[in-house]
Amino acid sequence: MTVTPLHLTRPASVTDAFLAQLVARVPGSSGETWKLTEVYTGEVLVELPQSTPADIESAFAVAREAQRKWAATPLKQRLAVFKRAHALFVDRARAVADLIQVESGKNRRMAIEETCDPAMVMSHYLRRAAKLLAPVKRGGPVPMLTSSTEVRQPKGVVGIIAPWNFPFATGISDAVPALMAGNAVVLKPDNKTALSPLYGIRMLEEAGLPEGLFQVVCGEGPDVGPTLIDQADYVMFTGSTATGRVIGERAGRNLIGCCLELGGKNPMIVLDDADLAEAVPGAIFGAFGNTGQICMHIERIYLPESRYDEFKDAFVAATAALDVRAAYDFGPDMGSLVSPDHLRRVKEHVDDAVAKGATVLCGGKARPDLGPAFFEPTILEGVTTDMACGVTETFGPVIALHKYRTVDEAVELANDTDYGLNASVWSRDIGAARAVAARLESGNVNINDTLATAFAAKGTPSGGVKSSGVGARHGDQGLLKYTDGQNLAVLKKQVMGPRPGQGYEKYVESMLSGLKLMRRLRIR
Ligand code: NAD
Repeated sequence: MTVTPLHLTRPASVTDAFLAQLVARVPGSSGETWKLTEVYTGEVLVELPQSTPADIESAFAVAREAQRKWAATPLKQRLAVFKRAHALFVDRARAVADLIQVESGKNRRMAIEETCDPAMVMSHYLRRAAKLLAPVKRGGPVPMLTSSTEVRQPKGVVGIIAPWNFPFATGISDAVPALMAGNAVVLKPDNKTALSPLYGIRMLEEAGLPEGLFQVVCGEGPDVGPTLIDQADYVMFTGSTATGRVIGERAGRNLIGCCLELGGKNPMIVLDDADLAEAVPGAIFGAFGNTGQICMHIERIYLPESRYDEFKDAFVAATAALDVRAAYDFGPDMGSLVSPDHLRRVKEHVDDAVAKGATVLCGGKARPDLGPAFFEPTILEGVTTDMACGVTETFGPVIALHKYRTVDEAVELANDTDYGLNASVWSRDIGAARAVAARLESGNVNINDTLATAFAAKGTPSGGVKSSGVGARHGDQGLLKYTDGQNLAVLKKQVMGPRPGQGYEKYVESMLSGLKLMRRLRIR
């Protein structure tokens, strides 16, 4: 691993005045603030206001008012905002990446990739929203005399709770279809990473999104969460499985819908014919991309005995050669973890595994010489289910290698987890890989890739099964979930019931034979 001493100049776009402007829109009537820091140096960047329950209620009241006008705005006009926003988001990608990097510590390659996500989501729903939101005539119970139309109504005000690992993508991308559908949004980003979503909202407003429609409240989750959920008409949550359960319980009690995008312990299965020249770099990204802090990233690799040593040698060599350091340019392969707190959690997982008998093949240590939250890309062997990292999500640059004897065994081991978010299968024979994919209990499966292909396919719903979530983002349901279907029925003439002078027996007879006729004519 290359070690370069820390001489860092903050990106020129990240000025104190700019940051002060960004956080100025966060309500914080108590005057309490949270010190938002630059991850690479630990220096305070800005004091982030913390919102009280009363601030959150006011934010919802303003959003609700703005939502009524927005929902009455013709769809074409609403969508025009996102056409303009798309251009702005692409033009300002570098400035967004600056903010993502200072607040999250990820390397620049990942930061710039993250900036593309809202633009991709906008592109997709700009093509799809008009069709999805158009009323659909379904036909009524009595042909000619009745009609029924499925009408899509916005939910109202959507509460979005976002994590720190992809703050811009989860903060903005999930809001885009909600807004297109005619909702307002109140976003609670993670305190650590509020800057990039705040800038995203500013760009949306520059593109013409009405002021007031997209509100931001900040604070620690347990402080802000209850009021936010109690005020919202729908909750979109991305974060850990533990928090997802808390959010889901409260949403359930309030009888509102929610979408929960949660954690994973994602397996990669290498079949014996796989092209290792592709699988090894694929695994490097899958394990260490975003410093291992991607919900869909790979934490377990299952290898056939026949290819184990070949894969292990190449993978260890490639990992040891990774350029890991703090820099605001495209050089490093891997950046920092998000915080010293998270570093402790990742280190605990590795220490626990080693204490219980696992072997470190590469990495395994914190690197305070590189920055306060750096941890080496780490490969473990001999990980078992009595170790924390054998069963729960580490969410860091730590991966375990395992051998399997038969494909059945590999499938069984891959499925031996409470999670079901993402899986990866590698083979030269796509048919064989598909057959394995069909047996995996996972909301996403990538063949000959680890995660990006599935996540970037915005037309297909992406979500977790088992303890990895409820519902999905992307695809038609990624927009329709923010709407209620209204059944708008019209009766042109009352025909249900006996005609004047007709006895009830006769009426029932004609009604029942009418039912048979309609079935024969396939009317209903
Ligand atoms: P977290 O659950 O601790 O926090 C996520 C968000 O929820 C933060 O904004 C936090 O402040 C808030 N929060 C915490 N407690 C809350 C409460 N009681 N009520 C309301 N809000 C609360 O998760 P994290 O550690 O910030 O993020 C990492 C996790 O997110 C990992 O488990 C990762 O797998 C998961 N994740 C999942 C996806 C996905 O799409 N499935 C995407 C990204 C991250």
